[in-house]
Amino acid sequence: MPIARVALPVAAETTFDYWAPEALRVVRGSVVRVYLGPRTLTGVVMDVVAASEVAPERLQTITAVGAMPPVPEDVLEMVAFVAGYYQEPLGMAAALAVPPLGAGGLARRTSDCAWMLAAPGRAALPETLTRSPTARALFAQMTDAPAGLSAATIAALPAHVRRILRGWRERGLVVPVPGEGAASVAPVVARNDDQRRAVAAIGAASDTFSPIVLFGVTGSGKTDVYLDVAAQMIAAGRQVLLLVPEINLTPQLQQRVRVALPEAPIALLHSGLADGERRENWRAAAAGEAKLVLGTRLALFAPMPSLALIIVDEEHDASYKQQDNVRYHARDVAVWRAHRRGVPVVLGSATPSLESWLHAREGRYRRLDLPRRADPRARMPKMRFAGNRLARAQEGIGETLRAALAACLARGEQSLVFVNRRGFAPSLLCSACGWEADCPRCSARLTMHRTPAKLRCHHCGHDERLPHACPDCGNVDLLPLGFGTQRLERVLAEAFPSARIARIDRDSTRARGAFAAMRDRMSANELDILIGTQMLAKGHDFPRLTLVGVLGADNALYSADFRATERLAALLMQVAGRAGRAGLPGEVIIQTDFPDHPVYAAVVAHDYERLAAGLLAERKVAQLPPFTHVAVLAAEAHHRADVDDFLRAAHAAGMALTVGQTAQVEIFPPVPALLARRAGFERGQVVVQSARRAALQQFLPAWRASLAGQSGRRVRWALDVDPAGFA
Ligand SMILES: [Zn+2]
Ligand SMILES: [Zn+2]
Repeated sequence: MPIARVALPVAAETTFDYWAPEALRVVRGSVVRVYLGPRTLTGVVMDVVAASEVAPERLQTITAVGAMPPVPEDVLEMVAFVAGYYQEPLGMAAALAVPPLGAGGLARRTSDCAWMLAAPGRAALPETLTRSPTARALFAQMTDAPAGLSAATIAALPAHVRRILRGWRERGLVVPVPGEGAASVAPVVARNDDQRRAVAAIGAASDTFSPIVLFGVTGSGKTDVYLDVAAQMIAAGRQVLLLVPEINLTPQLQQRVRVALPEAPIALLHSGLADGERRENWRAAAAGEAKLVLGTRLALFAPMPSLALIIVDEEHDASYKQQDNVRYHARDVAVWRAHRRGVPVVLGSATPSLESWLHAREGRYRRLDLPRRADPRARMPKMRFAGNRLARAQEGIGETLRAALAACLARGEQSLVFVNRRGFAPSLLCSACGWEADCPRCSARLTMHRTPAKLRCHHCGHDERLPHACPDCGNVDLLPLGFGTQRLERVLAEAFPSARIARIDRDSTRARGAFAAMRDRMSANELDILIGTQMLAKGHDFPRLTLVGVLGADNALYSADFRATERLAALLMQVAGRAGRAGLPGEVIIQTDFPDHPVYAAVVAHDYERLAAGLLAERKVAQLPPFTHVAVLAAEAHHRADVDDFLRAAHAAGMALTVGQTAQVEIFPPVPALLARRAGFERGQVVVQSARRAALQQFLPAWRASLAGQSGRRVRWALDVDPAGFA
C-alpha cells in the first residue's frame, strides 16, 4: 500500500506518514482526515511514496479523503514558499489552503440572502394588507426596493416585522435574491482618460508577470479600473482574484461587481461565510466556474486553474498581514503567486505602502496614476486645522468643528467625526491623589466604558466594575480622561439634540449585520452624524457626506512604532477621501496641537508623493524597512526572568551563527516589548535585520532551529518576518 506524507496543522517541522488505501485515490494535494494521537486532524498530502522510515506496525491509515478536488500544484508551491519564507511549520501553512471540511450541507443559509417581492406577492398582497399598517409599510418598503431588501436591512427590522416577512416567505410571496441585494447601486460613471489608459496598460500586460502599483487619489475610480480589466479577462474565459482588506468591504464591492459584470459568476471567500458556503465557493473557484474570486487575505489561497490577474485593493492596509498563527503578508504572497503564474498583479491604493512605492521608484514595479477624481463634479476636500488645547476644555470638540457641524446639519448634509478610540474615555483618574485605573494583567490603562458601565482593558479583555470612589484615597471625584467614541456620542447628542447620530466601532457592531445596517442607514440619509473609529476610514462612499472631523490624531505622531506616521498619513488621506464624493464640496477639520508637523502639511496638500519621499528619506537614514529587511523574535512568559534568559540565549545563539560572516545580519540586544506585560505575560523581543533579504533568509532557519532547543515549556515564542511594526 502506498504511503502518504501529510502536512498537519501542528507545530512540527515534518510531514507525517500514513497508509493510503488505493480505494481512496490519494494523490499529492489531497485533503485528508487522519488520527494524530487522540485527535482527528485535516491535512494536505504533500507526497505519495512507496515506503516509510516508520515501522509498518506503527503507521496508521488515512480515515477519509475530502470530497473536494486536490489542492493544485501552484497553491502547494505557494504553501511551501509561505512556510519557508515566514519560518512557519509546513502543516500550519498548508492549513491556509484547505477550505473548512465538516459534515455541513452546501445549502446557502437563507439568513444571508436578500429578499424581494415575487410576482405572486406583488399581485396578491395588496388586498390582504388593509388590516395591518405594519404589513402595509413593509410591502411599501419592498416595492421601493426592486432589487430586494439586503440581509442587513432585514436584520435591523423589528422582530414583529421580520415575523411578517417570514410568513410571506413561507407562502412564497417573497423570494431570495442571489447576493446581498442592492441598498444603493453606484451609478455608472463614464471613464476618464487616466482610467482608460490604466485599463489598457494592465490589459496589455496579460500573461506576463507584471507588478503594477495603481496609485489613484481617493475617489479616482480605482474600482472601475479593476472591473473593466476583470471584464476583459473574464470575457476571454479567464479568472480574476480580487483581494480586499476586510470583510465589511465585500458587500459593497460585490454589488458593484454585479452591476458591472452581471453575467460573471462570483465566489466570495472570507471568514464571515458559513463553512458550507465557503466550501462551495472554493469548489467553484477550483472548477473554474467562478470567474471572479472576491475575498479577504484567505482568498489568496483559492485554487484558480485559469487565473489571469490578481488585484490587491488598498494594498497598504495592515490587515493583509496576519498577526498570529502563520504571519504571512497577503500582498507580498500575492506578488509571489502572480510571479509563479506569470500574470499581472495590480496593487491599488491612494497611499501605497512605502515598500511598493520604493519598488516603483526603483523601476521594479510599474506605476500607473489616477490623479483626478472620477466624478468630474467632485473636488478634493478643503482641509484645515483647529486647535486642540481649547477643544479639550470644550468637551473634546472645539468651536471650529462645532460651527462646521452645525452648518453641515443646517444644509441637510452628513458629517463624520473620526476618533481612533472606542469606549468613553481612555482612562479614569483620581483628581485628589493621581490614582489611575490600570489593568492588573497588562502594563496599560483601563478604558472607561459607559454602555455598559465598566472599566475594560483593550489589550487582554479584562473588565471590572466602575469604581464609585478612588480605591487609594476614597475621593469620589473621579475624572474620565480623554475622549472615546461613546463620550463624543454623548457630547454631540447634547450639542445637537435634533441630529440623528450613530456610533460605529467594534462595540456597536458586534452583532452580525450591525455594521451593514448602519451603513445602509447612512446611505439612505437616515443619519446626520456618524462617529466612528478606523473601521469607517476605508472605502465606504456616502454621497451626502461633506464634513469630516478628526480628533486625537496627534497620538500617532510620537508613537514608538516606526510605521506610525506612515499609517497616520494613510489614514488621514483615506478619511479625507470620504468627504465630498459627489457634486457637494467637502471639508476636513483636523484638531491638533501640531499643525506645522510635516506629515500634516503633506496631508493638507493632498501630496502623497512628497510625504512618501520624506518618509523614505527618514527610513533610509535610520536603516529601517523598506531599506532593510527585518524579523522579530517575540517571547513571553509569566516571569520576566524566563523571558530575559530565553532572549539572551537567543541573542547569543544568533551572534554565534553570524561569527565569521561580514556582518550581513545584525542582531540587536533583547528589549522589552512596547506593551511590556499583556494578559499576565511578561513580553520581550530581539530584532534582527539585514540590508539583504537573502542574507536574512539564510540566517533565519538555522537560528530558529537553535531556538527550539532553548525555549523550554515556560516560554512562548514566535518569529515574525517582515513584521507590521516594531518599536
Ligand atoms: Zn485618590
Ligand atoms: Zn489587560
